[in-house]
Amino acid sequence: MDEKQLRFLVALQDIDNMLQESDTEKELGFKTEGPDKLLAIRKEVAEKIDMQMRRIYERLHEKYRRAVVPVKDDICLGCFVKLPTSLTGRGKENIVIFRCENCGRILYWLD
Ligand SMILES: [Zn+2]
Repeated sequence: MDEKQLRFLVALQDIDNMLQESDTEKELGFKTEGPDKLLAIRKEVAEKIDMQMRRIYERLHEKYRRAVVPVKDDICLGCFVKLPTSLTGRGKENIVIFRCENCGRILYWLD
């Protein structure tokens, strides 16, 4: 996956998780800075990401808190299933979106 796209995707995920947390804090009665600023940043980040990738991400994020996860030692760190070598081999080519065959999360390689 394109390095830059990946960074934006991970940032988008962080923002979404922050937004979710700020909802929870509100429920608990904590005073937070309002999500307006975060939403503005989110929009900016989202625009940098390829449409197709964003759609996949949005769908995954409804299901998982972490939709974009790293692979370490051929293991998907989302569901902890060992990936088939056919996938791990291709993963390093950096071209398309790779998804875990077990959980469907978007994968990136740590090394
Ligand atoms: Zn997985």
